[in-house]
Amino acid sequence: MTPLDYDRTHIWHPYASLGNPPPVQFAKAASGVEIELMDGRRLVDAVSSWWCVAHGHNHPAIVEAVRRQSEKLCHVMFGGFTHEPAIALAEKLAAFAPPGLDRVFFADSGSISVEVAAKMAVQYQNALGHPERNKLVALKGGYHGDTSLCMALSDPDGMHTLFRGIMTRHFFAEKPAIPTWGEWDGADVESLRRVVSEHGDEIAAVICEPIFQAANAMNFYHPGYLREMREICDAHGILLIFDEIAAGCYRTGPRWAHTRAGVTPDIMTVGKALTGGHLTLAATLATAKVADTISNGAPSAFMHGPTYMANPLACAAACASLDLFAASDYEAKVRRIERQFAEGLASLRGRPNVRDVRVLGAAGVIEVERLPAPDDIARVIRAHGVWLRPFCNFIYAMPPLVSDASTVERIIAALVDLASAPPGPAVEGDFHE
Ligand SMILES: *Cc1c(COP(=O)(O)O)cnc(C)c1O
Repeated sequence: MTPLDYDRTHIWHPYASLGNPPPVQFAKAASGVEIELMDGRRLVDAVSSWWCVAHGHNHPAIVEAVRRQSEKLCHVMFGGFTHEPAIALAEKLAAFAPPGLDRVFFADSGSISVEVAAKMAVQYQNALGHPERNKLVALKGGYHGDTSLCMALSDPDGMHTLFRGIMTRHFFAEKPAIPTWGEWDGADVESLRRVVSEHGDEIAAVICEPIFQAANAMNFYHPGYLREMREICDAHGILLIFDEIAAGCYRTGPRWAHTRAGVTPDIMTVGKALTGGHLTLAATLATAKVADTISNGAPSAFMHGPTYMANPLACAAACASLDLFAASDYEAKVRRIERQFAEGLASLRGRPNVRDVRVLGAAGVIEVERLPAPDDIARVIRAHGVWLRPFCNFIYAMPPLVSDASTVERIIAALVDLASAPPGPAVEGDFHE
């Protein structure tokens, strides 16, 4: 049995069948914006390996930081211990985050950081004498992860409907409809307003992906939505959670997507690009008000603690990644990619099978009636040497933020080629990014 045969028969891949597995690329190594395959071919990673690889693969500074840390301390339980990489990272994160969000909980994945955010909100309300405030409000079209609480906060009509039986019911507002570049109209937030006024007594927090609803909708919405959301939360004593796992770290332009709105959340989650895509780590950041309220309640302890919490190798990687973000102008890098995408993809508007073309920051999205056939997708990837992973109705690219103009040019050519292919057969259950 070849290694690939073993893979096909024994290893689940994300959102894939093990009985009828889709083809996979066999990665051998990666550096910069490229992934090298076993057969020697190279693919430009136009997906940043699910939006993590901000500085490029195997960045020498991050690899070196992990190597050095590995010689001292690979892991120690965070219960009863602390260590330098965790303290250094907490300080760096507090400086990197919007003012006020300087209390940190380190989680081992994005989903866990969302679970932690929701538990913080519930424990906060409990400490204030409101144990009945144990539901959240989320937005249709959102995505917050794959664990059961995260599924329960993600688009109720999305990829997780099969698991409704094990999910708690939370409340949903309609998907924001006005685009980031559109003209604000308060009507967009009416449904959120209604949900909160009907169920406010049961609600601990509102959660959203600010500005950019990524994995479920590829939707860029208006900052006015977040401004009104903040007001609604304040008026009802409800906490506001921004999930910046996909949109943060400059993906949409500014360091944090929500900066466009000029408001700050009470709790914020950060993940994906935090380690520049080198190790798994996420963080839940909270204000002193949230932390102090929980601390003054009963129990005073915050009730969560994963085995690999604040893993030193991951913290060292994140420290090096944040140093890279601080050392050059990522906002300018992203603006250049945005301009190139906007110009390069404009010609696709109005083409057959193309519903919409939208660009924000280092994200270019072509919404189609139906994706091309798998053979056409494979052909485009091979012909251009560009790794794309379309899903649902979306052909898109979210390349490493360090991609230069010629890399972005190649990605655009691949996107245009793919969006020009005929629509393929309807597929069932083709959901995940
Ligand atoms: C990817 C993602 C998550 C989940 O992160 P994992 O590391 O995959 O658990 C949560 N929220 C958003 C917005 C994401 O894009």
